[in-house]
Amino acid sequence: MSDQVVTRFAPSPTGYLHIGGARTALFNWLYARGRGGKFLLRIEDTDRERSTPEATEAILKGMSWLGLDHDGDVISQFEGAARHAEVAHQLLAEGKAYKCFATQEEIAAFREQARAEGKSTLFRSPWRDADPSTHPDRPFVVRIKAPQDGTTVIRDKVQGDVTIRNDQLDDMVLLRSDGTPVYMLAVVVDDHDMGVTHVIRGDDHLNNAARQMMIYEAMGWKVPVWAHIPLIHGPDGKKLSKRHGALGAQEYQAMGYPAAGMRNYLARLGWSHGDDEFFTDEQAKEWFDLDGIGKSPARFDLKKLENLCGQHIAISDDAALRQEIEEYLDAAGLPALTETQSGDLERAMYCLKDRARTFPELLEKAHFALTARPIERDEKAEKALSSVSDGILDQLTPQLQNASWTRNELEETLNSFAEANGLKFGKLAGPLRAALAGRAVTPSVFDMMLVLGRDETIARISDAAAQS
Ligand code: GLU
Repeated sequence: MSDQVVTRFAPSPTGYLHIGGARTALFNWLYARGRGGKFLLRIEDTDRERSTPEATEAILKGMSWLGLDHDGDVISQFEGAARHAEVAHQLLAEGKAYKCFATQEEIAAFREQARAEGKSTLFRSPWRDADPSTHPDRPFVVRIKAPQDGTTVIRDKVQGDVTIRNDQLDDMVLLRSDGTPVYMLAVVVDDHDMGVTHVIRGDDHLNNAARQMMIYEAMGWKVPVWAHIPLIHGPDGKKLSKRHGALGAQEYQAMGYPAAGMRNYLARLGWSHGDDEFFTDEQAKEWFDLDGIGKSPARFDLKKLENLCGQHIAISDDAALRQEIEEYLDAAGLPALTETQSGDLERAMYCLKDRARTFPELLEKAHFALTARPIERDEKAEKALSSVSDGILDQLTPQLQNASWTRNELEETLNSFAEANGLKFGKLAGPLRAALAGRAVTPSVFDMMLVLGRDETIARISDAAAQS
């Protein structure tokens, strides 16, 4: 029981779920899910000025879109403030922390003098070893008694052993003068109390790990396994930013990328399993390991994302795909499908899902199934239609009346009709696409006929014949 893996995602609710955060959440989710462990969600809302409920909502929505389900309740860090303070008081009682009465002015003066003397400007409080009987009656902060010599080694699964000289660390404040706990303390207490065994997060937190270890050690708590993952860069190798395109995970939903493709792509952003590019969730859960995380920043590559999305669309279940497309339409603020369109889309799905990399591409192919008579034709379709001699489409209809509606027989009927009229099949297919879909680029003529059925097919062809 005690060796169960517990990971967590601990976003600060100050904005949407960005790509980097989504990838961190995914790594933690994969690591836990692949090991029968738990994946917890903690909202780090201690910064009251910057945290908003809307941001929490956006993060939850982003995770839900990505299918990153968490175990248990969402934990609010702010709500644990009393517990965080309790730990600081315990350290104080045990002599591992102390009350520091130094004022801001005194600290500034200390630094100035240190600078003038060419010494380290890290504040060394005169209160560290002061006798409590000398304590004045004025506000104080609580500082941890950090080790002053030796080294602290962060054994990181991605970065390797990172050694920090203890004389470079100051006595970090645990409680502010108003008695509120600092963020760094909150993180450690929460991770300990939540039973977190593995902390997988961005390497911008690597420096924090050294300070956080001081608290683990002072409390005699087991230090979790650390894995600090490199940030994500844009295709130009610079830190990912708005100028590289969308940053919010959910913006990708609104652009019509399937969640499974996004998960696959995000998993590959900084982690690899041999040469595997395309994989399912099941494979990712089985394969994901901290050893496969690279040390250098991954580069975001939209082409790769699209390519993987296309492969995931192709293998998706038709009903699930239809459902996800409807959610996409909603997320993109596009009109919802009618019940009929929804059914038609699902029936047509088998011939739409290969070679569509995004939902807009798939819906473009689905146009024939979603549109109703009279079929509006675009310019190319109009041209294709006028290239066929009058009467050809008219002559085709009786043959379709008699054909049995199977792919084989339709193929036979159309091929022999083309031959009898001295046409190459391609010459006939263009006008048929125009008649059936009003577009020049469509699924195969046979697929369209099969999806539309005999009556609708003949009606659309007759409409076109009457107009050409
Ligand atoms: N709240 C921090 C952030 O959003 C993460 C802290 C952690 O994972 O320890 O960057």
